[in-house]
Amino acid sequence: MPQTISVVENILNANDRLAEENRARLDAAGVFSINLIASPGAGKTSLIEQTLPRLKGRLRVAAVDGDIATSLDSDRAAAAGADASVQINTGGECHLDAVMLRGALDRLDLTQFDLLIVENVGNLICPANFKLGTHKTVLVASVPEGDDKPYKYPATYRGVDTLVINKIDLLPYVPFRMDYFQRGVQALNPGVVTFPLSCITGEGFDGWIQWLIENTRKE
Ligand code: MG
Ligand code: ZN
Repeated sequence: MPQTISVVENILNANDRLAEENRARLDAAGVFSINLIASPGAGKTSLIEQTLPRLKGRLRVAAVDGDIATSLDSDRAAAAGADASVQINTGGECHLDAVMLRGALDRLDLTQFDLLIVENVGNLICPANFKLGTHKTVLVASVPEGDDKPYKYPATYRGVDTLVINKIDLLPYVPFRMDYFQRGVQALNPGVVTFPLSCITGEGFDGWIQWLIENTRKE
């Protein structure tokens, strides 16, 4: 059905234009921004909660949380010390798009921040198709999801800039073959920057925090 395909293409093209405008606003304000995507329960909000206190006094951080219905995640970001936190209720939509991020940017004085962390809706499929205008897309995978995820969601794994492997504290308890997982990742996205870490024990956080600081200082 060519008609359907062209409608989808038009939506994505319009979204891309708005994403470029968002990027221009972030660049003008000198804000580095990341788009966190993951399946539900991988630990995006926990990662934000554990990241914010480690950046305290080093970077000024705004958090934008996309959620289908609640403000629970942005409340957690605010409690963890975000300098500002904005909730986007998507009204049932299963991904954020550039219009929604523009609405959130309108509510922030971007000159007050160094880093913007966007938490996308928990979903491994469509968030990868909708650019927001952020500088880097960070995929948060987690050990209990299983080691087959790169093989099952190749498009998502191929398109990301950075990979966090969360919940490594569970490696002794679940059948997750790190080498099998990493082989899948490397076949799709060779050399992708990867941070295995645990939001419970704090293991692996140093590299992740360093990456955030270095990229923010470049912006
Ligand atoms: Mg969350
Ligand atoms: Zn969606």
